[in-house]
Amino acid sequence: MHDLASTDDRAASTAPAGLGGDAAAIARRLKPLEGKAAGTLLVHEIYRSIQGESTFAGLPCVFVRLTACHLRCVYCDTAHAFRHGAAMGLDAVVEAVEKLGGGLVELTGGEPLLQVEAYPLMERLADKGWTVLLETSGGVATDRVDPRVRIILDVKTPASGEADANVWANLDRLRPTDEVKFVLGDREDFDWSVEVVRRHDLARRCPVLMSAVFGRVEPTELAAWILDAGLPIRLQVQLHKILWDPGARGV
Ligand code: SF4
Repeated sequence: MHDLASTDDRAASTAPAGLGGDAAAIARRLKPLEGKAAGTLLVHEIYRSIQGESTFAGLPCVFVRLTACHLRCVYCDTAHAFRHGAAMGLDAVVEAVEKLGGGLVELTGGEPLLQVEAYPLMERLADKGWTVLLETSGGVATDRVDPRVRIILDVKTPASGEADANVWANLDRLRPTDEVKFVLGDREDFDWSVEVVRRHDLARRCPVLMSAVFGRVEPTELAAWILDAGLPIRLQVQLHKILWDPGARGV
């Protein structure tokens, strides 16, 4: 393993094509990935915990958290993953997951699709017969993801500060085994999200999850909005923040 946190000041050259937003800011945010050897992943942490979000909430799950994100959502609670990580080969990652029990595995971040090696990793994990979840920001195209992987696709709302980064074509690719998630910072976000759900007929196509930004919208408030909307939207609470300290890591 090799700590790549102190890379030099060169602009990152590894960004996937089609990332929206301020190119200079994105290049700065991808710097932690500079110097990473091809065929390796910069891994922030691998651990086993209870799945806190998605329709898999409550189940034991192994999390592989990759380093770096090209976005900066105002509510981000994993900023620690923006930098610092250990370079690991695919075999080492699969072995680490296996040691922790495999079964249900989630690739998360940061934004895991910023590293091209995430694609063969997901294939290797699925080849093991494990259920593989991909938690992605919605800001990178999902067209190369193995169809066995269940994509949990964020749609960034206006209050996140990153709505311009949404790759809208990702919504067209959603399958019944995928899930789409909105994290809401206020009532305007809810109305905006319902409009997106209706326009793309999402409620008929896959599970639709909505959760409240911790400390900004009360889950009971969101529950009332959902009941009023008359759509089969699944209210989601961040289970790990209820079970453990909201700021705790590796849980
Ligand atoms: S996409 Fe996720 S990891 Fe990236 S800034 Fe937003 S919340 Fe944080």
